Parts: sequence; structure tokens; C-alpha cells
Amino acid sequence: MGGTFDPIHYGHLLAAEEARRFLNLERLIFVPTGEPPHKRDHKVTSCEDRYAMTLLATAGVLEYSVSRIEIDRKEATHTVDTLREFIRSGIEPRDLYFITGLDAILSITSWFEYEKIPELCTLVTARRPGYPVSKIDSLPKFIRDKLEYIEIPQFAISSTEIRQRARDGRGIRFLVPHLVEIYIESNNLYRS
Ligand code: ATP
Ligand code: MG
Repeated sequence: MGGTFDPIHYGHLLAAEEARRFLNLERLIFVPTGEPPHKRDHKVTSCEDRYAMTLLATAGVLEYSVSRIEIDRKEATHTVDTLREFIRSGIEPRDLYFITGLDAILSITSWFEYEKIPELCTLVTARRPGYPVSKIDSLPKFIRDKLEYIEIPQFAISSTEIRQRARDGRGIRFLVPHLVEIYIESNNLYRS
């Protein structure tokens, strides 16, 4: 599962875990993005802070790991390159699943070399509040053919909202894992 994870929250964790259970996946790899070109609306927190929070959120869960693949890439990072790198490391395309929320998958046709993505993995998407599932029908057929849709309990939270709450001094407890909350507070993240 890829994401900016700025910060990682229970919406991410629930979507990923539901995909894991539903598809009986052996491992779940969280892949925080490098410095993403498309997130200009706010200053993205450093990779290392986002990586640390993702580690804290997933620590102790046997099937979970966090990959530095995009953080350590020198050039601009694209999902297609990350999938290729996992395949080079020995994972068969039929065993590789890319998990995204509905908002992300709906913009897939703007991703670098997106036409190649369905050859490299199965796409998995879960509903996200505010994004109608019916929009999936507008995706090209070759994408829909490699798309698994899963129904999950709805968590109407976003990293944007959590950053705003932290900035306003409103609590973020129970929206993010406890250790992530402590990390945000101790490092003064999202404070102006
Ligand atoms: P931001 O508000 O900064 O865009 P975000 O909450 O959307 O953050 P991202 O890191 O952009 O989080 O998302 C990573 C992936 O997690 C995306 O595929 C996104 O669709 C999915 N996702 C995020 N929040 C939820 C949620 N509440 N329920 C289901 N999927 C989610
Ligand atoms: Mg987002």
C-alpha cells in the first residue's frame, strides 16, 4: 500500500488490513512516498518523519513491513517503478497487489505509464467516504479488469484533517495509533 502517510492514520490501516484479510495476503508492505510532486497544497513532512510514523503504526504486526524503496529513490518516484522493483526482487505479478483508496484509483490515468500497471499487479481498492463507487465505471476497461473492489467499514478521516486538528491544538487521539500521536507531539509536527 502506497501513500504519503503524512501522517498515517486508522483509515489507511483499516483499508490495508481489510485487503489483507479479504485477499488472504501473506505480507503487507507500506510504501511511504518520497517527496511527492503533486502535493503542493501543504509542505509535506520530511520522508524520515513519515517513515518513522509508518514504522510506529505498524510495529509488532507480524505480516506488516515498511519499505524505503520510494524514499531512497534519487529520481522522481512513480508507482510503476516501485512495482517493477518488487517484481525484480522476485515477486510474481500474479502475487502482487497494489492497495489504494478510491480517490487514488480514480486518478490512475494521470499516473506515469499507468497503462503498464495492470500487467504488473492486481489493483485493490476500498471505498472512501465522499467518493462514489459508481465512478469506477468510468475507468478504462483494461484497468477495471485488474481491479478488485472491497467493501470496508467507513472511516471518514484524512491526513489533511489530522494535520489541521494538530495545528489547531484539537486532539488527534484515536484517529492515529497512540505512538504516532506521541511522535507528532514530541516532534512538534504540523504546528505553525
Ligand atoms: P491527504 O489528506 O494528505 O491527501 P490521505 O488521508 O488522503 O492524506 P494519503 O497518504 O494521501 O492519505 O493516502 C494513501 C492511500 O490511503 C490512498 O490510496 C488513499 O485513498 C487511502 N486512504 C486514505 N484515507 C483513507 C480512508 N479514510 N479510508 C480508506 N482509504 C483511505
Ligand atoms: Mg490523499
